[in-house]
Amino acid sequence: METLESGNGFGAVEWTDGRLEMPMMPRRFSLPYWYCTECNTFQSVSDMKIVDEMEVYQRVDTETDPRWKQASDIKEPGWREYLDGVTQWKTRLEPYPDWETSIRLLAWRRYNDRYRKKLIKQNKELHDIKTDGLPTEMWAEKRIEVPQQKKMIENCKMIAKWLYEGNPDKAMDKADIFRWLTRFKDALQILKNVDKLDEFDERVHLKRYNLLINLCKTEDPSLGVVHDRI
Ligand SMILES: [Zn+2]
Repeated sequence: METLESGNGFGAVEWTDGRLEMPMMPRRFSLPYWYCTECNTFQSVSDMKIVDEMEVYQRVDTETDPRWKQASDIKEPGWREYLDGVTQWKTRLEPYPDWETSIRLLAWRRYNDRYRKKLIKQNKELHDIKTDGLPTEMWAEKRIEVPQQKKMIENCKMIAKWLYEGNPDKAMDKADIFRWLTRFKDALQILKNVDKLDEFDERVHLKRYNLLINLCKTEDPSLGVVHDRI
């Protein structure tokens, strides 16, 4: 099984911040939250009103069908909209710091998305490399600097305060947050224990783990694709 060994099954691309992009499964199919551009509200899929249920393969005309016409104009939240959501849901989230932290993490990855796109564009425009489906080892540029932004720094400090370190994915997310905050020692402190966790699976976690350790040791806060040769 070559795809499994490469860790890039079906062209999936893993990033240092934990974003996993799978071309076979667009993100909009599994988004837990949306943003309504008409009333500027942050919404959870589970709170939404069902206007229609689709049969598989059924064709729906969203332009003329009156039930769809009155459905709001919703979209994937941008990072500011996730943070607006945290504010709008303040009372609702207050008893659940883990819930708030999970939304803040989505905001952080969404903030990084802009630079992911930029890195992909640079590979294409400067090196004529089409990154789609190409193993990340072969990308000419694998890392990009993500600028410090006041609101995002505050957001990341809140994540660092609350995020649970007991499972490998979350612990690496937390270490990566510290790395972006240029708190490399704190990041390494967390990483030191990650490979000893019960759930640590080398096939799933080792590449990202090694890359994060390496970037922390060289005090590099940039966002990057996870790849074999470091
Ligand atoms: Zn609305």
